[in-house]
Amino acid sequence: MPLSELALSRGTVDRITEKRTDRDWLDSAWADQATRVLVVWRGQALMRLDDDRAELAFVPPQAAPAGTRFLLGQDADGTVYFGVSAELPAALDGVRAGSLLAPGGTTPPSPPEIRGGSLREAGTLLGDRDAGLFTHAVALANWHDTHTHCPVDGTRTVVDPGGHSTRCPADGTEHFPRTDPAVIMLVTDPDDRCLLARNAAWPGRRVSILAGFVDPGESAEQAVIREVAEETGITVSNVRYVGSQPWPMPRSLMLGFRADAPAGQAITVDHEELAEAYWFSRDELLAAIGAREIALPPPVSIARHIIEAWFGGPLPSTWPEPRPVR
Ligand SMILES: [Zn+2]
Repeated sequence: MPLSELALSRGTVDRITEKRTDRDWLDSAWADQATRVLVVWRGQALMRLDDDRAELAFVPPQAAPAGTRFLLGQDADGTVYFGVSAELPAALDGVRAGSLLAPGGTTPPSPPEIRGGSLREAGTLLGDRDAGLFTHAVALANWHDTHTHCPVDGTRTVVDPGGHSTRCPADGTEHFPRTDPAVIMLVTDPDDRCLLARNAAWPGRRVSILAGFVDPGESAEQAVIREVAEETGITVSNVRYVGSQPWPMPRSLMLGFRADAPAGQAITVDHEELAEAYWFSRDELLAAIGAREIALPPPVSIARHIIEAWFGGPLPSTWPEPRPVR
C-alpha cells in the first residue's frame, strides 16, 4: 500500500529548473513587487502558527535581508518564490502581539502572532504550497550554510544565479546540493507483528521503526537488510519500497520500506544504537500505548505513516510525551 499525505512530500509550486541559470529572468523576477521571499534561518521561517493550522509569512524582495538567495519556483498564478538564508526579520507589518484569547477565553481569537517555526512544528499544519516551499528552502539553506568552500582546494565558492549550485573560481569545479539517503523500515514476522525499537539516545518511552543511512556503494535494499541485522540480529527478506519523504534536518531523504522476518529469530539488540526492541501485535501496540509504556513518532514523520499503514488506521500517542500531572 503506497503511503499518502506525507507532510513534507507535498508541494504545488513548479520548480522551473530551467530558469535557475537565466540571470535576466531572475533579476526581473526579483525586481517584481509581487515576488515573495521566504527567509530561512537555522531551520526556521516566519509563520502564523496555530494549534491546527500554519501559514508561512513571506516578505517582498525589497524587504528581504541580505543573504544567500535561491529560486524556489513559480505558482500557477505566476507568483515567483525565492528563499534567502539569513536571520529572520524581527518584525513584520501587521504582526499581532497579543495572545490568542484573553484570560477567561471570552473574546474572539485574534490572528496568531507571526513567529519563527520549524518543519517539525509546522510540517503537518501547513498547506500543500507552503509545506513544499518550506521543505525546499530549508534543504537548500542547510546546504549553503555548510558548503561554503570548494572541497578540492578550499577556495570560497561563488553561488550561481539561481542558488542551486556553486562554482569554485580557482579550479572551475561545480558543486550541487547534497542529500543523504536513509532507509527506514517496518519489519514484520509471520504473525504480522511489527518490530519497534527504542533508540539509546531517545528519552522516555519513545519507540519507532528501524532506520539508518545508506552506505557508499550500497543499494537502499541492501541497507535495509544490513541495518536490521546490525541493530537487532534479525535477517530480513522481501524488502519492498513504500514511499519517501525529504527530511532536511539537516539533509536526509527518508526511503521507506517494509521487510519480512522469518519466525523464531531472537532479537539481539546492538546496545550502541538501540536500547531495546520488541515485536508488537496490533492489540499489543494499542495496549502498550494505552498503558503509557510507549509513545510513537509524530505525524510529521514518515515512520508514523508506515506504522499506521501497517496498523490499518490512525493511532493515538505522539512524541513528545505529555508531562505527567502532579
Ligand atoms: Zn576549487
